[in-house]
Amino acid sequence: MTRDDSPVTTRHANGRRPGDDEGDHQALVQLVDVSKIYGEVAALRGATVTIRGGELVGIVGPSGSGKSTMLNMIGTLDRPSGGTVRIDGYDVAALSDRELSALRAGTIGFVFQQFHLAAGIPVLDNVADGLIYSGIAPRERLDLAEEALRRVGLGHRLDHRPHELSGGEQQRVAIARAVAGEPDLLLADEPTGNLDSASGTGVMALLRELHAAGTTVVVITHDRDIAASLPRQVEMLDGRVVGDSARTRGPVC
Ligand code: ADP
Ligand code: MG
Repeated sequence: MTRDDSPVTTRHANGRRPGDDEGDHQALVQLVDVSKIYGEVAALRGATVTIRGGELVGIVGPSGSGKSTMLNMIGTLDRPSGGTVRIDGYDVAALSDRELSALRAGTIGFVFQQFHLAAGIPVLDNVADGLIYSGIAPRERLDLAEEALRRVGLGHRLDHRPHELSGGEQQRVAIARAVAGEPDLLLADEPTGNLDSASGTGVMALLRELHAAGTTVVVITHDRDIAASLPRQVEMLDGRVVGDSARTRGPVC
């Protein structure tokens, strides 16, 4: 891949991607027979799933079934031991670490169960710092951070430190950080896992709003009610996708 053909510039230059000539044209995420081995442990054993732009997908399954590992594969945080991961048309195996970072910074936002905010730092800076690798100038990073915090209903808390906020508010800050760069894809790993049910409901409502505004959202949840309320559920067991409500409803096309 040449410099001019890097993921981010190609995406904005002409809207065409390497994957446009093959496979599923609308797929934002394509995992085909993906495995991931950690030492003796096979965390994924041939996971296959396709997610299109504009979807809101819940990933469910028992603890240890490979949900987080699959989300990390989708998020290109880690490379598979086998199989193919294609994000926004790019086969991640064909990208260098630098190209992968550029793809990630321009395309993907992450939210985790632990909010992962920097302690003692105002939330505005916490959110702005999430854009450090985006290539956006510092002043604009602060503007985008403020806008994102307003979007999650925290425009009045810009100068607060994380410990001065409730758990639900801290998770909203984390979501603001994830979406400040307007990623196409938002990945959330048990985002309500550390919250009381009212705060969890608020966080899920926010994810739905972001989805309604055009972001593709993939959320891992162990909460059956939350999962049942999502338009599509992908079920994992022993490192494989064993159920997909999109498939049982008929072909996804
Ligand atoms: P889930 O999110 O569904 O609980 P994970 O994807 O976290 O499942 O883990 C799947 C399996 O892989 C588990 O047995 C877990 O212990 C193992 N595993 C996950 N990450 C690692 C790692 N970095 N090193 C070793 N084993 C891991
Ligand atoms: Mg997990």
